[in-house]
Amino acid sequence: MTTLGILGAGQLGRMLALAGYPLGMRFRFFDPAPDAPAKLLADHLTADYGDTDALRRFADGVDVITYEFENVPVETARFLQQFCPVYPPPMALEKGQDRLVEKNFFRALGIPTPDFAAISTETDLEPAAALTGFPAVLKTRRMGYDGKGQFTVWNREELAEAFRALNGQPAILEQFIPFERELSILGVRGRDGEIVFYPLTENTHREGILRLSVAPAPRRPQTSQLLAYRQSTQSLAEMYATALMTALDYVGVLAIELFQAGDRLLANEMAPRVHNSGHWTLQGAVTSQFENHVRAVMGLPLGSTNPLGVTAMVNLIGQIPPLESILKIEGAHLHLYDKAPRPGRKVGHINLTARTHDELLSKAEIIRKLVDG
Ligand code: AMP
Repeated sequence: MTTLGILGAGQLGRMLALAGYPLGMRFRFFDPAPDAPAKLLADHLTADYGDTDALRRFADGVDVITYEFENVPVETARFLQQFCPVYPPPMALEKGQDRLVEKNFFRALGIPTPDFAAISTETDLEPAAALTGFPAVLKTRRMGYDGKGQFTVWNREELAEAFRALNGQPAILEQFIPFERELSILGVRGRDGEIVFYPLTENTHREGILRLSVAPAPRRPQTSQLLAYRQSTQSLAEMYATALMTALDYVGVLAIELFQAGDRLLANEMAPRVHNSGHWTLQGAVTSQFENHVRAVMGLPLGSTNPLGVTAMVNLIGQIPPLESILKIEGAHLHLYDKAPRPGRKVGHINLTARTHDELLSKAEIIRKLVDG
């Protein structure tokens, strides 16, 4: 039996283990939080990411180490490399943890992004605003997720006020993109360099948190001549992801969040891990992102990423509707994460698969009403 060590024991770790058990794998988790969603699925070591004794114990007897949380300290991942292979490579963490480093990395690889400028002190505000114009989005360089540490500002006064609210944390100012939609591309790269892609996913956020994903992303506008358009959007997104995965000598699932604005496809950020916008693959693809991540890091052949119809993924945020009301919807698959509901907290998701987008959207509407009240 092979054992995969996973840094982070959140819902992504939980779903990785659930996908890996049928392959005959074992798991071990490392997470500073004792009450993490994956705690009942495998051995769970509770310690700080800087605790080298605990890290040694964690690594002892595991074959490969991966992570499900992109803010694992880079030094932790590098420290563990002396014991066994760590995938994705720690360099991917390093590039992804700082929005400025990440956007510069995108640009260096020819991947377009919204215009941006670094903000370290108040004197940087004026030239940054001159570059981006208004509205603009001020974001902390580090530790921002689900819209945290992020402000949309409409003028110089709001920008100065938002920067003061960050209490001196280094930030970036980005041009606000009035996008038509948000998309994400999920690629998987094996240890032998093989790369496969899932079809583009269309994502809807509210208050910076992902609410709904639909995959494959519907064609827009919906005319037949646009078939070629979607294919080229897909291939453009694949080109960006290939450039990133090749530059990083990547192994595992990589997600890139994109803005589609007119004929431009701009990269917002990447996640060197399985991703919320790939949860639809649990029911909607031949091989889920979780199984493919496990296969990739273990050096196994990658599975087919073909879609099985069209799938909607609805996140359950802050509350869980009555089980009966969800389970009686034909084709609805419920995934709960063993997390106590709190406002803004992702506690589960529902996958719903149908044959066509029209059929899917009418069913998804029933779920949206359940979830949003
Ligand atoms: P992020 O934390 O960068 O993923 O941002 C969370 C969400 O805020 C994104 O999914 C978008 O909906 C929105 N957002 C972030 N950056 C921008 C931008 N530059 N222009 C417009 N919307 C943005």
